[in-house]
Amino acid sequence: MGKEGVNSIAKIDNLEKKDIKSYDLVELKALMGEIGQPAFRAGQVFRWLHKECVQSFEEMTNLPLNLRQQLNDNFVIIGAAIEKKLISEYDNTVKYLFRLFDGQCIESVLMQYKHGYSLCVSTQAGCKMGCSFCASTKNGCARNLTASEILSEVYTAEKDTGVRVSNIVLMGIGEPLDNYDNVIKFIRLISHPEGKNISVRNITLSTCGIVPGIYKLIEENLPITLSVSLHAPNDEKRSEIMPVNKKWGVKEVVRAAKDYYEKTGRRVSFEYALVKGVNDSKSDADELSSLLKGLNCHINLIPVNEIEKSGHKAPDKEHVRRFTEYLSEKGLNVTVRRTLGADINASCGQLRASAIKEVE
Ligand code: SAH
Repeated sequence: MGKEGVNSIAKIDNLEKKDIKSYDLVELKALMGEIGQPAFRAGQVFRWLHKECVQSFEEMTNLPLNLRQQLNDNFVIIGAAIEKKLISEYDNTVKYLFRLFDGQCIESVLMQYKHGYSLCVSTQAGCKMGCSFCASTKNGCARNLTASEILSEVYTAEKDTGVRVSNIVLMGIGEPLDNYDNVIKFIRLISHPEGKNISVRNITLSTCGIVPGIYKLIEENLPITLSVSLHAPNDEKRSEIMPVNKKWGVKEVVRAAKDYYEKTGRRVSFEYALVKGVNDSKSDADELSSLLKGLNCHINLIPVNEIEKSGHKAPDKEHVRRFTEYLSEKGLNVTVRRTLGADINASCGQLRASAIKEVE
């Protein structure tokens, strides 16, 4: 497993430099103290990095030259290079394939909604969760992303398109709760008033159901929205498509979601990818409604996006409509996820997989 937290070392030009964009303001202040600089310099550096999103220390024009030099000698500003960019002809959804400093590729998707722009970000280069329908996990997980790399997805997309991202969904490649510390740091940095200042309430974290991570998240006191990838109403079916279920079963995951709601007051979402003949029958809907009965939640149904070799097919539109209606009649709050960027395979994992294939 690769680089984590503020101590991550980026090997650039064979120099070992520290990743400065992963430092929060408190850590930057301590750093300035260590190198004999006044504390206010930390705020200046922070704003250059997280508000102006500069990519070099030379651009920090209100810093004395010797400080810029000192920073340049010891630190690196990690970025994400645009390797590929696809724009949907249907709805202007933009999908990026970013290349990181060590050659790893990740994906982000920029979507336009009535309420503004939302960016779906990756949290790991690959994923080790092994869900059978998901393209992101097919080549395993190369490494965790640092907080600065997740930030770079946002900063680069904003710079490239000129739009302001107001919502973040941690639903790209990777399992956010499997890269817990870097993800929490990312959330704190992206919502910092001296940086992009994106409201924590506009951030959604999606998990395949790592129960201890959900309980840890409750303690963070961050009013983010939790989304749980449920995809099946019982252990037998869920374990078949989501190996993580063998560790934390359906009841435990739903219990954790309930506790999340009770402790934070934030309504939880459940993702349910409809797979033909696997989890889309009337009895699945019945089981699902009794499982979630009484829980203040929202269910997002997603006709499964058919990926190469998974063998999973989506039910037809009429079947999806009936399944939705049936759940609604049972009193559940349910919608079918609007498909954005259908012509560019906007759901994540597929560009990274083809980039890996090209290299091989
Ligand atoms: N690891 C996290 C977040 C990444 S995936 C999680 O599991 O929640 C974001 C969402 O897309 C998850 O709900 C995931 O199960 C779903 N997903 C992955 N592949 C899909 C596919 N082929 N079709 C529909 N949904 C898919």
